[in-house]
Amino acid sequence: MQFIPISFKEYVKKHLKNNPSENERDLNKRLQTALADYKRGVKCSCGNDIWVIGAATVGNSCFTCITGESDPNNDYEIESLIKKNKTAGRRYIDEIRPAQIAGFFDNDGYEI
Ligand SMILES: [Zn+2]
Repeated sequence: MQFIPISFKEYVKKHLKNNPSENERDLNKRLQTALADYKRGVKCSCGNDIWVIGAATVGNSCFTCITGESDPNNDYEIESLIKKNKTAGRRYIDEIRPAQIAGFFDNDGYEI
């Protein structure tokens, strides 16, 4: 799976440009909700991670269940989620016992 990473703000801008009738506040709210669900570990009914950008429009489902395609092709996903996948193997601050936390962490909470 290969999404094109896009920042939250950039995506909102792009979506509003392509969908002039969309309400910016609504879109923001739906994206925030989908993002929060993703971070809570909400999964698609098939068990895959939800596709936040699609979920903001059609509800919490994965890319394949939403589009019927197996792989993204020039489709966007919020960049912080893609970064999260790339940090596999790095220690996440919430998974470290407080007494052992030392050193530096990036904004997402991963050890640098
Ligand atoms: Zn699915």
